[in-house]
Amino acid sequence: MKRDYAVIGLGRFGGSICRELSMEGMQVLAIDLDEDKIHEFKNIASHAVIADSTDETTLKELGIKNIDHVIVAIGDNIQASILTTVILTDLGIKKITVKAQNDYHEKILNKIGADHVVHPERDMGKRIAHNIISNNILDYLELSDDHSIVEVKAGEKMVGKSLVDLDIRANYGCNVVAIKQDKEINVSPEAEYTLQEDDILIVIGADKDISRFEKQLVIDDD
Ligand code: ATP
Repeated sequence: MKRDYAVIGLGRFGGSICRELSMEGMQVLAIDLDEDKIHEFKNIASHAVIADSTDETTLKELGIKNIDHVIVAIGDNIQASILTTVILTDLGIKKITVKAQNDYHEKILNKIGADHVVHPERDMGKRIAHNIISNNILDYLELSDDHSIVEVKAGEKMVGKSLVDLDIRANYGCNVVAIKQDKEINVSPEAEYTLQEDDILIVIGADKDISRFEKQLVIDDD
């Protein structure tokens, strides 16, 4: 289904979103103050327009009200990002996603009505840090301030043991929600399932519990 999107700010983050949405066949209105950026995106997005998103009249003239989802990817200029978000909220845009530059910016964006605040540098930093701690930690996704999902390879402490043997819920307070084997995914695996090499566990839990689970079962001591 084709949907209409607008991406405001075509830096690395906004530019990448604009490219991917366009590649998926979506209608994208790309907006940036910078003429060079607009030149770069004029053959990628459905429409690419030089405009200042802090100018409400300009946004109205661009027909922003008819767009389902607006992504505000202005990073450095926090004031412009906040002002743009306020204008979009006032105009009643259905869905607004905004890139936050820091925690303070994120707090304000949540207060003024952004539907979804993303913090790509911080989130990617966390994911990479977990992967640096252990090659067995494949991915790390924050669900809330204190809960996450982690994707881990069954390491030497787990292979050959069943989920009952490991009793991850009782011992670490986290839940194994699925196990991936090659391209298969076994959702809610049975307790008797014995872990094999190359199995990937998807584990959900409170950050403090996941941290214990990682330290005791995932990180190999060599
Ligand atoms: P990234 O890390 O994703 O490259 P960034 O966090 O460095 O981006 P900026 O370079 O500050 O983000 O801004 C991204 C883009 O937003 C720039 O191309 C800039 O021209 C554009 N921009 C900034 N203010 C506005 C505005 N008021 N209206 C439209 N575009 C704007």
